[in-house]
Amino acid sequence: MGKFTLMALPYAIDALEPVISKQTLEFHHGKHLAAYVNNLNGLLEGSGFEESTLEEIVCQSAGGVLNNAGQILNHELYFEQFCGKPAKTAPTGPLAEAITRDFGSFEAFKEEFQKKGATLFGSGWVWLSADRAGTLCITQEPNAANPVQKGLTPLLTFDVWEHAYYLDFQNRRPDHLSALWSIIDWEVVELRYGKARM
Ligand code: MN
Repeated sequence: MGKFTLMALPYAIDALEPVISKQTLEFHHGKHLAAYVNNLNGLLEGSGFEESTLEEIVCQSAGGVLNNAGQILNHELYFEQFCGKPAKTAPTGPLAEAITRDFGSFEAFKEEFQKKGATLFGSGWVWLSADRAGTLCITQEPNAANPVQKGLTPLLTFDVWEHAYYLDFQNRRPDHLSALWSIIDWEVVELRYGKARM
């Protein structure tokens, strides 16, 4: 056992079907994320980051340590934000107000977020983040990058690495991204926004 462990999914392995199949989750969580955890644990000794938190490693390290730590942080945020049967299909409260203020409407936000996910060249992640004032922004981050490296608080993310969708959608990344909205647990995203503003 290493310092970091594979997160447990907060839902059943088939809970996100048909948007994300059981088979995709078995590979994405059980193989890809597990490999990043094993890789990071193997690289920690002698790295100087043995006592650091995951976020500290993502903000301060480089090379293989950074790539594996970044992918662990990214995937934990990604898998935690889903739910098989979400209680609501859109955010409410302060997050909803901020989305309307900063993007015009929830529909306009979704359109921009999906577009930035669809047009990210190669592997990476599209993020909704908040700055310390609570202002929202959408960024494209390549490979294993995370908005915490820019001093932002990540709220919501779509993984656009092909391993996230290829078994279910093959080359149709935009179709995968538009399907993801139906399994977002907005209560998780709202909680992240609440913490970002504290
Ligand atoms: Mn992934």
